[in-house]
Amino acid sequence: TAAALEELIAPPIHISYTQNLINGQFVDAASGKTFPTIDPRTGEVIAHVAEGDAEDVNRAVAAARKAFDEGPWPKMTAYERSRILLKFADLVEKHNDELAALETWNNGKPFEQASKAEVPMFARLFRYYAGWADKIHGLTVPADGQYHVQTLHEPIGVAGQIIPWNFPLLMFAWKVGPALASGNTIVLKTAEQTPLTALYAAKLFQEAGLPPGVLNVVSGFGPTAGAALASHMDVDKVAFTGSTATGKIILELAARSNLKPVTLELGGKSPFIVCEDADVDKAVELAHFALFFNQGQCCCAGSRTFVHERVYDEFLEKAKARASRRTVGDPFKKGIEQGPQIDEEQFQKVLGYIKSGIESNATLECGGDRLGSKGYFIQPTVFSNVQDDMLIAKEEIFGPVQSILKFKDLNEVIRRANTTNYGLAAGVFTKSLDAANTLSRALRAGTVWVNCFDVFDAAIPFGGYKMSGIGREKGVYSLKNYLQARAVNGQLGVRRR
Ligand code: ADP
Repeated sequence: TAAALEELIAPPIHISYTQNLINGQFVDAASGKTFPTIDPRTGEVIAHVAEGDAEDVNRAVAAARKAFDEGPWPKMTAYERSRILLKFADLVEKHNDELAALETWNNGKPFEQASKAEVPMFARLFRYYAGWADKIHGLTVPADGQYHVQTLHEPIGVAGQIIPWNFPLLMFAWKVGPALASGNTIVLKTAEQTPLTALYAAKLFQEAGLPPGVLNVVSGFGPTAGAALASHMDVDKVAFTGSTATGKIILELAARSNLKPVTLELGGKSPFIVCEDADVDKAVELAHFALFFNQGQCCCAGSRTFVHERVYDEFLEKAKARASRRTVGDPFKKGIEQGPQIDEEQFQKVLGYIKSGIESNATLECGGDRLGSKGYFIQPTVFSNVQDDMLIAKEEIFGPVQSILKFKDLNEVIRRANTTNYGLAAGVFTKSLDAANTLSRALRAGTVWVNCFDVFDAAIPFGGYKMSGIGREKGVYSLKNYLQARAVNGQLGVRRR
């Protein structure tokens, strides 16, 4: 595999958009600064991108404010908004492979995955929320006394949205879809590692007829552009996906500025539990997918593989064989399951956790090092004999490192699985309805996948218990993040019967 890494495929796309999109115009950063965006296959520069900071955020917020306060966006009919979202989804479909190529180039994920799964899901999300746009309405309320009371479900205003680099397009959709459907305007700050696809998608939104200022996209860094957005006095709501440490900062900035409501989707250390009755071959495959998918860079990765002692030895042998067979290489090549990690920092961090696993006497079954000599490729790595108090069992690794732990009975595994500050997701693998029901109610997590994993349908809510977040995204739940209820109380002129 290492040799194959040396000849890379030229990405089948050129870079068209590198400036910030503010009020319908692609513009340079106010400071004139740019920053390089990197190809994780090589560490080489793909393009230089406008580096937004506080001043660019101010301009973007002013544009979004105007588009909200003066219209046309919240004042258009919901049907017109819905049609723009649908038209956008059609354009995404038309440009499926360009978007996927850009995503692969900037992020390193396999092109097959980006083109066959992520871009189609991206379009699907917008169609789903287009369907909601004209179905948002309030209630009439039976209050005591002579009153006619109704609730109006109104957009909050200007939404600040800060997204991460692991699923640049899908995170854009989870944030932008519900916010636009419910009539808000947006300033989106992309992750500094992956600015490119959001700019391309925003351009398609313009083509679909989205008015200027409704969706503004600023590239830049967290402590500058991100912090300016979270603490802006004219931003009415902030939504963030990223690390738990940064989530705390966002909440604090929101509180210190204007108390804007905050939704957070943060880290995880999700258990994947293989029960004693499991079909071991299937369990191995699913546990492998749960951890290694997207180079292990999923907040919900099944990163603690708990295996019942009766099937542990067989599982371990097969999990090791499966990881050793995993195809790692140029993500543009066919049949590649795993590309590079996103950047040097993450690459070093993951290698650091591997070192920590070895030092804490977990058994290294396979992998354990980088792959090749350039780019950020890491060998699929499996540790067995992992104990609950080891760093690799407690902290989010965010890389292709599977930790396998042994358990004896359900009560024990419930207790151990829940002994974490995270609560994003959990996986359960069993043929027993009893075990499935018991576990899916006892595990403290926002999502439980039974005999499946990483099911991300647009209609299914996603979010964390405990320090994995606040609020839910996707589905009908996400609309609530972008709406507020106004109670209108009218004195009735007539006596109620
Ligand atoms: P990761 O460790 O996965 O890169 P981060 O939480 O650092 O996760 O990044 C997620 C997003 O949050 C990115 O868009 C990043 O720029 C942004 N971010 C990072 N630090 C801050 C901050 N202090 N204020 C606002 N946004 C931030």
